[in-house]
Amino acid sequence: MAVPLLDIKRQHQPIIEDLRSVFNRALETSRFIKGPEMEQLEKEFAEYCGTERAVGCASGTDALILALMAVGVKPGDFVLTTPFTFFASAGAIVRASGIPLFLDILPDTFNIDPELLSEWLTDNCVVTNRGVVVKSNGTRIGAVMPVHLFGQLADMDRIMSICKDWRIPVVEDACQAVGAKWSEKRAGSLGAAGCFSFFPSKNLGALGDGGMVTTDRPEMADRIVSLREHGGRGYIHEEVGFNSRLDAIQAGFLRIKLAHLESWHKGRRKNARFYSKAFRKLGQVTAPVIKNEAWSIYNQYTIKVADRDELLNYLREHDIGCAVYYPLPLHLQKCFECLGYGEGDFPVSEAVSKEVISIPVFGELTEEELVEVVETIKAFYAEKV
Ligand SMILES: *Cc1c(COP(=O)(O)O)cnc(C)c1O
Repeated sequence: MAVPLLDIKRQHQPIIEDLRSVFNRALETSRFIKGPEMEQLEKEFAEYCGTERAVGCASGTDALILALMAVGVKPGDFVLTTPFTFFASAGAIVRASGIPLFLDILPDTFNIDPELLSEWLTDNCVVTNRGVVVKSNGTRIGAVMPVHLFGQLADMDRIMSICKDWRIPVVEDACQAVGAKWSEKRAGSLGAAGCFSFFPSKNLGALGDGGMVTTDRPEMADRIVSLREHGGRGYIHEEVGFNSRLDAIQAGFLRIKLAHLESWHKGRRKNARFYSKAFRKLGQVTAPVIKNEAWSIYNQYTIKVADRDELLNYLREHDIGCAVYYPLPLHLQKCFECLGYGEGDFPVSEAVSKEVISIPVFGELTEEELVEVVETIKAFYAEKV
């Protein structure tokens, strides 16, 4: 039996008429960009995340760029993040005129190691009237960007406490963590800003591209509102911004889907529990580790195995959907050669990039399919010995 990594059709089937009515409404109103549909979504999304404001934009990548600019990242500033993430985390830093400065991750959660963050700042930085700067060359630290990878928040208690001490703004890359919680607080409500992607494979996916920035700070939200539309109001421009708006039709689809998000999270979490129970008895597989404070939404269910590439091929041969997120850490990407990193600089990221494999976890999987995935992995190890 073939099991897909993700099948969005199954999620849309029960709400297909609601989605069609959004399309019909858009044809009738002819409001295609922003408009009341987007403003309603912004309100509902802010309420869902527990923030004062939410500002729609064209993608998660743009959400990161806009948020970095709005928290005050200036050209040439360092932004601290991890190399084990989707490319856009670091790509957005460069597009916001910053420079990615990588710190390694924890091997169990794949999220930034807060002790490395604390040590790096203590060893390298001083507070000046320009803000926090690197002692040796005066480069400013513009922001810290924890990535909540695979649906689990980074250790936001430690990160916020370190960054409060240094007075460095935190921009959460919450693109994989919509609705996930840390000590009962939702992703995007802990830092100065939270950034979300509505790419179709995210837990809250549009029928196309879309993004959102959440914040409690009205002046930041207003700045992003201006930046997403060429940095102006009316035809008066104080700065140069972007064209990064959210389509009304996507906002409409997202409003329908937001109402189902909690039940979809439940489905993924149930599937994750099924796997984790099964893998407890299978020594070769390390199941995801979720911290006590964390409530994961399992955008991915990512296991670690020693013989990753062999298992990957085996699963593919047996039509079990799987993928490697991510095979090459960002500090080793060709386009970041200029940053001067090399092999061995981030040993944890490098090691896990050779061990991880993500398997199907979407909420509409049947019990039969879950069993098939587990049995196929078991068969691989049974055949090996
Ligand atoms: C998906 C994703 C992004 C980018 O979102 P897009 O909507 O595709 O631009 C950024 N960071 C992370 C961690 C992501 O998973």
